[in-house]
Amino acid sequence: MNKLDSSLVVSALTDRGYELTDKATEADIIVINTCSVREHAEERVFSNLGHMKGLKRKRPHVIVAVIGCMAQRLGEELLAHEAVDIVAGPTQLHEVPDLIEQTLGDHEKHLSVTAQIRQPAASDEIVEASGKLDDFEIAYDSDANHIKSQAFIRAMRGCNNFCTYCIVPYVRGPEVSRPPLAVVEQAKKLVDSGIRQITLLGQTVNSYQYTENGKTYGLADLLQQVSEIDGVGWVRFITSHPGKFDTSILQVMADNPKVCPYLHIPAQSGSDRMLKAMNRGYTAADYIALMDTAREIVPDIAIAGDFIVGFPGETDEDFSQTVELVRRVRYKNAFVFKYSPRPGTHSEKKLVDDIPQEVKQQRNVQLLEVISEIAEEDNKRFLGQTVEVLVEGLSKKPHLNQAENENNPQLIGRTAGDYIVVFNGPESLTGKFAKVKVTKTAALTLFAELA
Ligand code: SF4
Repeated sequence: MNKLDSSLVVSALTDRGYELTDKATEADIIVINTCSVREHAEERVFSNLGHMKGLKRKRPHVIVAVIGCMAQRLGEELLAHEAVDIVAGPTQLHEVPDLIEQTLGDHEKHLSVTAQIRQPAASDEIVEASGKLDDFEIAYDSDANHIKSQAFIRAMRGCNNFCTYCIVPYVRGPEVSRPPLAVVEQAKKLVDSGIRQITLLGQTVNSYQYTENGKTYGLADLLQQVSEIDGVGWVRFITSHPGKFDTSILQVMADNPKVCPYLHIPAQSGSDRMLKAMNRGYTAADYIALMDTAREIVPDIAIAGDFIVGFPGETDEDFSQTVELVRRVRYKNAFVFKYSPRPGTHSEKKLVDDIPQEVKQQRNVQLLEVISEIAEEDNKRFLGQTVEVLVEGLSKKPHLNQAENENNPQLIGRTAGDYIVVFNGPESLTGKFAKVKVTKTAALTLFAELA
């Protein structure tokens, strides 16, 4: 979501004639997009702002804008920082070019965030913001080497779930879905410009819902409509919430070869006690039943997930239930996060962060080991298979066991199930689909040769 926001702001700025540089020391305007989901991300922003202070002493004309969730969360506090000139929340990203121009004119600090983001009035502001920024064509992506053939499109903003540990509903506001026509029109433009894969984004994208002329469109309808665009290769979506997951989404995946058989669907825990404390709205049995249904409808579906370890009150027994769930579901890959309280959330206000750091760390390592062991076993089924990949470009970290030469460099691609594949081939394949034969497998990577 943040990558998309960064791209949209860059597009809005390049549209006004600004040029992009990746060196802070050359820039006249520095925009820092921020994340509030974990404490560590916020600490890094403050450390960056420390560097900016030094940089501004040498080049006082430099303007520093802090945008995104942390801007919404901290507002005035962030604006008071010596290095900061502009603070703009996720709903105000479309205002960034104007805020920069105001600052260039009056040399004052400017703040633009949503007051009372959870109030109904904020929804109108969010709808308006969505219309102003989300339609921008993505001219640039921060991972420029790898994303020439792919684009993100926002299907919806915000979240209504209020998981007790999560800051998102407080900084991104309530759920607001975009009209299907706006999404499809944007996808058409991107496909015309050479994009082959569209990823529809939402904090809980399976809650996508838009009613128009008496008809309600869900995510399955949106996936179908985008997949019908001439020239689109693959369509995928992230992220899903396991509560109220409509199986029509799985059906469109099964019936439509352009809709990728990939589901990122965080369980967060395998303990019902923890799931209740997290306010996730489902039990471990509900989650497992949904994953079984997913595999019945889409047999080759790749399932990915997220877990939190060390949530307040998590016992060894709770943790072992998480390990059990991981063994039962068999993820393609899953991310594990050590719980850290986020200011203003229910769990920060009402629960004691009582799991020692060493225990969080040890559970983190143990769970990752189980996830990796399962992925390593399951990936062996690809050995000898020919799979289709969308080629992303040169591999950033060449793998030693893959021979490399100028005309046949090491490339990286992803399958429809989002498996990373490393193989040698001409760089001209970047942005295209290719068939490769898998010769070796590991937990996170498949190694292959051009078929
Ligand atoms: S579903 Fe829960 S974890 Fe996900 S964004 Fe919403 S509140 Fe946060």
